[in-house]
Amino acid sequence: MTAAVPFVDLAAQQAEIASEVLPVWRRLLETGGFIGGPEVDAFERELGDYFGVGHVVGVSNGTDALELAMRAVGVGPRDEVIMPANTFIATAEAASRIGAVPVLVDVDDACLLIDPEAVEAAITPRTAAIVPVDLFGQTAPMERIAPIAARHGIPVVEDAAQAQGAAGPAGRAGTLGRVAATSFYPGKNLGAAGDAGAVMTDDPEIARTVRSLGGHGSSVKYVHDRVGMNARLDAVQAAVLRAKLRRLDRWNAMRRTAAGRYAALLGDVDAVRLPAVRTGNDDVWHLYVVRVDDRDRVLAELTEAGIGVGIHYPTPVHLTEAYAWLGYRRGQLPVAEAAADRILSLPMFPHLTEQQQGRVARALQGASVGASARS
Ligand SMILES: *Cc1c(COP(=O)(O)O)cnc(C)c1O
Repeated sequence: MTAAVPFVDLAAQQAEIASEVLPVWRRLLETGGFIGGPEVDAFERELGDYFGVGHVVGVSNGTDALELAMRAVGVGPRDEVIMPANTFIATAEAASRIGAVPVLVDVDDACLLIDPEAVEAAITPRTAAIVPVDLFGQTAPMERIAPIAARHGIPVVEDAAQAQGAAGPAGRAGTLGRVAATSFYPGKNLGAAGDAGAVMTDDPEIARTVRSLGGHGSSVKYVHDRVGMNARLDAVQAAVLRAKLRRLDRWNAMRRTAAGRYAALLGDVDAVRLPAVRTGNDDVWHLYVVRVDDRDRVLAELTEAGIGVGIHYPTPVHLTEAYAWLGYRRGQLPVAEAAADRILSLPMFPHLTEQQQGRVARALQGASVGASARS
């Protein structure tokens, strides 16, 4: 059975951009300029204008963007990098690939964003960076983290993979640290036709370092000043990203409309806890994450009804097998752990219709009312 309501459906996005992208792809096929080049240069300029940052370096994916950003602010082997426990594992992987140690901290219960007090409590002489994550489409509380970071002289690397176009009290997502990393994985608010990412900063020195590290540690061909990596952006992706960037604000507005409709449809359902938006935040609703009791059963019933749902993320990073060696125990980060058992991501994408949302709401109401009756 095909899903009655898919979790994500990007077909309408691709249809909107096809006539702009195909001629560029044809030209690239004919001329062979697949990596870097004018298409990538133009995208970097346009993204810089959009975010309001001085320098953008297009890269291969969001994980590489995070690694390059961390390395550029000086994170090295055995350094500690503070980040929230309820993030996509890539945030931790980026630190690990440098040989640094992810230090996972708890989040606030209202919005599930990194808790500034937990950040401050986790700072040690080995802390080399703080990596707040703009989760589900809203910015982390940077206006509270920035003064803490400044007081301790620690750089902030913003993980802005889920918040393209969002803003908070401290400014626009992507501008809130010394450097920011973002991902253009196809399902992100600004998605490529494959893997891609970017690093953003106002600091020309950091931008130069990122560009050099991502291009085999070289700024002049075959002169290698340091051991780098290959993290370049393809022109094929830049063409797609340029076309989608022009539509990002409109698509984010459509996500906001859809979020408003969910709130109206589900506001009276006691068994469903709706997502909260932090005061002063302009949320771009990368994900619409509710909380319910008996989540696994609700998830199974929705799946049975043909509703595409997800969990972001089922296991907080500190309890994953991959990071068992860090030695965290269950109970240490109670808010992130409790949330992981209750969160449920509903279908969310710009072209989600009122009708589709009605089906989601009816199915969810049926499933969660069942849960209350049983408890
Ligand atoms: C998607 C994502 C990443 C990683 O991006 P990739 O392009 O998949 O490597 C990093 N952090 C967060 C919070 C993400 O959502």
